[in-house]
Amino acid sequence: MEENTNPTIVADDVVVSMDYTLTVNGEVLDSSEETDPLEFLQGHQNIVPGLERELYGMKIGESKKVTVAPEDAYGTIDKDAFLEISRDEFPEDIPLEVGVELDLRDDEGEVMSATISDVQGDMVQLDLNHPLAGETLQFDIKITGLRIPTEEELEHGHVHGHDHEDYDEDFDDEFIDLVDSEEEQN
Ligand code: ZN
Repeated sequence: MEENTNPTIVADDVVVSMDYTLTVNGEVLDSSEETDPLEFLQGHQNIVPGLERELYGMKIGESKKVTVAPEDAYGTIDKDAFLEISRDEFPEDIPLEVGVELDLRDDEGEVMSATISDVQGDMVQLDLNHPLAGETLQFDIKITGLRIPTEEELEHGHVHGHDHEDYDEDFDDEFIDLVDSEEEQN
């Protein structure tokens, strides 16, 4: 009973290799041209839902242009997702300038990304929205490979690439700890 034959079309629980170019507002933001194709597990929200949905049934070698609305990508901009934090809560090696992206960890250990959206005197405003919130994404994609996942990959819901660490491993110390600065100020 040999069942290790590679899948022929994109379906749930298939590892997909894909060349892609991401264009937003006419500007190329990301492309696999200079890297390896993106590898991900279909059907496990490894990629934005509006793109994942369009891939079902595609074959190796097939290309497609996909336009994804914000609601099907990184969401619309949440006006409540801004925080104001005192300058002295940031490590000294972080440049406190508009546009700088940071990783934060709240008091429950939850990690989130933020972008500095304003700096006024001692106050640093952080935008917790995804940098691509509110944006329509244009993808040019080409399916370059399909394979069945390992048992472990399927269990974890993501691929374990040969050239990067498992996402599950601890990567402490890279985050700025935010200990409820909002409440402290009140
Ligand atoms: Zn894993």
